[in-house]
Amino acid sequence: MASILYYYNRFRTRLTNKINTHIYSGNKVHCEMCEWHGSKFPKGRCPNCNSLPRTRLIAFAVNHFKLNQQQQVRLLHIAPNRAEMKYMSETFNFNNGGQYDRLDILPKYKINIVQDLTKLQIEDEQYDLIIIWHVLEHIPNDYKAISEMYRVLRPGGKALVSVPIVPFDREITYEDDTIPKEKYKEIHSHPDHCRSCGLDYYKRFETIGFNTEEIKVIALPPQTINKYGLSEKHVAWLFAK
Ligand SMILES: [Zn+2]
Repeated sequence: MASILYYYNRFRTRLTNKINTHIYSGNKVHCEMCEWHGSKFPKGRCPNCNSLPRTRLIAFAVNHFKLNQQQQVRLLHIAPNRAEMKYMSETFNFNNGGQYDRLDILPKYKINIVQDLTKLQIEDEQYDLIIIWHVLEHIPNDYKAISEMYRVLRPGGKALVSVPIVPFDREITYEDDTIPKEKYKEIHSHPDHCRSCGLDYYKRFETIGFNTEEIKVIALPPQTINKYGLSEKHVAWLFAK
C-alpha cells in the first residue's frame, strides 16, 4: 500500500511540475541545478527538477567557487539525493582519472560506498572534493566525521558543506549530549537533529585544520537571491585542506 501511495504521489508531483513548467515559463528566474528558466519557482520548487532552495544553493556555490572548472575531479558525495547525483554527473568531469563516489551509511539507490562517515575504510588523500549537504546535524560525533573528511582529502582538497542554522540567525551552536532523542524535535526542531547548528559551526572545521570561505545568502543582493531561487536562511561553506 505504501508503495502505491509513493508512486501515486510521485506521479502527481511530476504531472503538477510538467504543467507548472508551462504556466511559469519566462526568464526571470534560473535554476542552476537543471538550467530551467521561468517566471517564478512555484512554492519554492523548480518545476523542472523539483529542487528546493537549499539544493539550488549547491549549484550556486559550485559556480560561485568555480569548483567545476577542474579537468578531472575525484569527488566524494555524502548522502546524496537523486537530483544532486544527476547534477554532479552533468556538472563535473569524472573522465581521465576522475571519480564520483556516493557514500551513505545504508545501501540506497546509486550508492557505491556503504560506510559510516565517522569510521571510513578509505585510504588517506583520495579526493579533490567532498560535498556534504544538510547531513552533519544528524551525526552525533561530527568532529570525528570532519576529521575523517580531512584525512581522505588530498592537500589542497576542498569540502563544500551546509547545515541548517536553526533558527536562521542563531550565532552559537547549541548541543547537549545528555538530551534524549525523544526531545530532539522539541529542542532542535527536527526529530533526527542532534544539535542546533549556529553561524559559528564552521569553527569545528577550523579546529580540525581547514580554512574557510563562506556564502551567507542573506548577504547576497536581493536580485541574485530571487533569480536563483535561494533562501536567506541558508549558509554554505567551502573548506580547504
Ligand atoms: Zn531545476
